Amino acid sequence: MAMVRTRYAPSPTGFMHVGNLRTALYEYLVAKSQGGTFVLRIEDTDQERLVEGAEDVIYKTLEAVGMEYDEGPGKEGEYGPYIQSQRRDLYAPYAHQLVKEGKAYYCFCTKERLESLHNEEGFGGYDRHCRDLPQEEVDRLLKAGMPYVIRQKVPLTGATTFHDSVFGDITIENKEIEDQVLLKADGYPTYNFANVIDDHLMHITHVVRGCEYLTSTPKYNLLYEAFGWEIPTYVHLPLIMGKNEDGSVSKLSKRHGSTSFEGLLEEGYLAPVITNYIALLGWCPKDNREIFTLEELRKSFSVERISKSPAVFDYDKLNWFNGEYIKAMSDEEFTARAMPYYREVFGEEEEPWQVLASILKARISKFKEIPALLSFFRELPDYPVEYFVNKKSKTTLENSPQMLSAALETLRQLPSWELTAIHDSLIGLAEKLEVKNGTLLWPVRIAAAGTLVTPGGAMEILRILGREEALRRLEEGLAKF
Ligand code: GLU
Repeated sequence: MAMVRTRYAPSPTGFMHVGNLRTALYEYLVAKSQGGTFVLRIEDTDQERLVEGAEDVIYKTLEAVGMEYDEGPGKEGEYGPYIQSQRRDLYAPYAHQLVKEGKAYYCFCTKERLESLHNEEGFGGYDRHCRDLPQEEVDRLLKAGMPYVIRQKVPLTGATTFHDSVFGDITIENKEIEDQVLLKADGYPTYNFANVIDDHLMHITHVVRGCEYLTSTPKYNLLYEAFGWEIPTYVHLPLIMGKNEDGSVSKLSKRHGSTSFEGLLEEGYLAPVITNYIALLGWCPKDNREIFTLEELRKSFSVERISKSPAVFDYDKLNWFNGEYIKAMSDEEFTARAMPYYREVFGEEEEPWQVLASILKARISKFKEIPALLSFFRELPDYPVEYFVNKKSKTTLENSPQMLSAALETLRQLPSWELTAIHDSLIGLAEKLEVKNGTLLWPVRIAAAGTLVTPGGAMEILRILGREEALRRLEEGLAKF
């Protein structure tokens, strides 16, 4: 079997949306799961649609997710250049070749004429006005310097059938296909034409793209047939839907949330999480496993397990993924990523970072949740004395002050403010007082934090507060009685 070659062929027209990134990822995985080559080709022949900076976004995103291309801009292989605007003189001869062979024709229709066609009811595309102009007339118009485009002569009868690896066999009646423009009046190719020429010249074996291209695929195939070229394997990907508030789904759009890679990063999702999650929008492994690194995806991916039913982009699920990745991080990495948020709470002070990592890791799904979770460290909230009462811990307004003063006495004598020292002394104290740990630790935690729900328990909170502030808060708690 020929070596697998795929290409990601974006038109640089804006942000990297979830759909674009998925196409890139699947192109990459179809190649890499079969030891193939992944090509990046920039399709920028439609200069009107270009957006400043959009090409950079493509390079940066691929780099950020670690999807390295084997050939492409800046990595010239055998078939470069890989930016279509740098190849633009290469396409016209192919269009003229088809004219010579009677498979395409010059069309001299003016813009006005074409626009008037649009007004007629039931219009299904170009009316093929120039398709059968007598040769003398064509010669005369060419000689007179009339501007022209080149259109493909699409068969008027019959049907075009093609096979898609995901969607199966698809048939479209040829009469429904327009005589598409191949070469524009300025001599540049249309997007569809350049796409086919380049896929052929670059020896692309698998074309992977969103299913919105399914209906134009027969057009591409008619071109391959006109040239007598081999048709690539098609892998069209299912739609990506978003969840609406009422539980229904519709095509993923801004109203569902951030839909660009940049936006999702800004929201606090980690790059490998985004890739991992997007890999599952249309593909799932046999064992339903969910967590994959890119490296693991390269090994596990298979075209056969791509589904044609629409995939749903679920932000709750994405949050879950992010939380799982955070949980699995080393303390060092966690601390480094959390630091900007710690600074919002603690300023420039040094804190027992490892203790913080241990209480936060399993609790957050995004780093930006940190400041709110830790705000009680910066300032003790004004809390009611009733917070000390807890049934499960068996604390009351009577025993809580006793617990607090006993804890204060013990903690004041601690030679070191390390977590183990705090832990051992309080556990020892509960034993001595013959109460369950909770009866002692509940009031201590409430006084230390001033809030009912906290990340971490009493001991971690005391440790992070530091001796002085911790003792001050316990005294303040005791004073409430
Ligand atoms: N340039 C097209 C796009 O940006 C690529 C379509 C294809 O993969 O054939 O959607």
